[in-house]
Amino acid sequence: MAIRLYNTFSGKKETFKPINPPEVKLYQCGPTVYAEAHIGNLRTYIANDILRRALEYDGFRVNQVMNITDVDDKMIKRSREEKTNLKEIASKYEKVFLSDMEALNILRPASLLRATENIEEMIRLIEKLIKIGAAYKSANGIYFDISKSDNYGRLAKLKIKNSAVSRILKDEYDKENPRDFALWKFRAEEDGEVFFDAPFGAGRPGWHIECSAMAMDALGETLDIHTGGHDLIFPHHTNEIAQSEAATGKTFSRYWLHTGFVNMENDKMSKSLGNVITLSDVVKRNFHPLAFRYLALTLHYRTPMRFSWEALEASQTALLKLVRHFTEFQSESNGGKINNEYAKNFKEFLNDDLDTPRALALAWRLIKDGNVSDSDKIATLLDFDRVLGFNLEKLAEEFKKTIELIPEEIKSLVEEREKARKEKNFKKSDELRKKIEEQGYEIEDELAGFKIKRNKF
Ligand code: AMP
Ligand code: ZN
Repeated sequence: MAIRLYNTFSGKKETFKPINPPEVKLYQCGPTVYAEAHIGNLRTYIANDILRRALEYDGFRVNQVMNITDVDDKMIKRSREEKTNLKEIASKYEKVFLSDMEALNILRPASLLRATENIEEMIRLIEKLIKIGAAYKSANGIYFDISKSDNYGRLAKLKIKNSAVSRILKDEYDKENPRDFALWKFRAEEDGEVFFDAPFGAGRPGWHIECSAMAMDALGETLDIHTGGHDLIFPHHTNEIAQSEAATGKTFSRYWLHTGFVNMENDKMSKSLGNVITLSDVVKRNFHPLAFRYLALTLHYRTPMRFSWEALEASQTALLKLVRHFTEFQSESNGGKINNEYAKNFKEFLNDDLDTPRALALAWRLIKDGNVSDSDKIATLLDFDRVLGFNLEKLAEEFKKTIELIPEEIKSLVEEREKARKEKNFKKSDELRKKIEEQGYEIEDELAGFKIKRNKF
C-alpha cells in the first residue's frame, strides 16, 4: 500500500515515490530563533513529525533536514533590544525550541543546520546565479532576476501580472523589477557587527537563499519533499524554487506539503497582533504539552485550526482517558500481538494524506472493542504510538506516579464527601466533588466503592 500525499504544486493527492527508495530526502523550514516558537509554529513541526513517522512506519528511511535561521532582520533587532549579541540570542532560543520539540515528542531531524554555519554554501550559490546572469548587483545587495525563472510563481498559482503581487514585493530597495528579491544584503550601519565577507561584497544572506543552499548541500539538487506552513508558499518557497532551479536546471523538490494555520478566535495568530500562545503558556495553565500534540492530531494537518482553551481541555481529557485505559490494559498484559485488522486500517488512514483524525478514532474503537484481548490492545496501541507519538509507556508511568501521590488534603476531602453521601447529604457531597475536581482530581463512583483519579497529569 503506497502513501498518498497532497502536493501543493499539483494541487492534488499523489502517490508518493522517492527518487532513491527507501531513502526519503525531506527538507523542512525551521525556526528563526529570535523568540519562543508559538503553537502555530509547533503545529507545523508536529505535522512534519507525523509525516516522518508515517514514512518510517511504511519502511522508508527518512533523511530529515531542518534549518535554523540564526541571522536576519528580526534577530538583529532582538539582539539590539536585549543588548546582547546575535549568538547569545540564537543559542538562548534554539535551546527553548529544542526543549519544546522534546516536550512534544517530536523526533530530532537527522540534521539541524544553522544558517551562520553554512554561509560558504550560500555564497557559492549566489556566485553561480551571478555567473549565469540570473542575479545582479544593486546598491544594497545582490538580487535575483525573476525574469530568468521559468514559471515563476507556479507553486502559489500566481498570475505574474497580478498587481497585488507587485505590491507585496515592492520595497525601498534599488531593484530593476519590484518583484526581484534579495539574495544578499550588503552590510548596513544598523547591522552593527553582523556581516560576512563575500567576493561580491560583505553583508548577510537573504532568507530564501539560506534554505536553497542548505537543502541542496545536505540532500542534493532534487529533494523528495519540502515542507512548511501555508504562509511559506509565497514568497519563501516560490523564491526557493526560482533560484534553485535557475542554478541547477533541475526540479528542486518533487513534493511540497503545507500545514494549515493556527488561528485565534477571530484573528490569525501572530507576534504583531500580540496574540501568540507558546508552549510555556500552555504548561503554565496546567496542561501537559502532549495535550497540544493530541489536539493537533484531531485535525487534518491541512485544515486551519481555530485554537481555544476549551478545545485543548477536551484534548487533555481525551489523552488522559487514553492513558488510563492503557494502564488498565497493562495490568493484564503480557505477550500480546498486534491486531492485523486494526494495523491494516491504521496504515490505510495514514497513507491517505496522513489522516490522523481517523487514525485517532481507530485507536478509540480498538480500546472499546470487546473482541480484542487487553494484551493485544497494548501491543496494537504501542504500534500506533510509533506514529502518533504520545510515548504511551512513559505517560503511563507519569500517570501512575501521580495517582500514588494523591495528597493527604485530597484524601480527607474524599473521606468527608463519602461521609456526606452516606448521610444522604447530596448537596454537600456534590460541593465536595467540585472542590476535589478543581484541584485536579476526580472521583469515580463504582459499585464496590470509589476510586480517586487525577484528572490532570
Ligand atoms: P517562522 O519561525 O515564522 O519562520 O515559522 C516557522 C514555521 O511555522 C514555518 O513553517 C511557518 O510556516 C509555520 N507557521 C508560522 N505561523 C504559523 C501558524 N500560525 N500556524 C501554523 N504554522 C505556522
Ligand atoms: Zn525555508
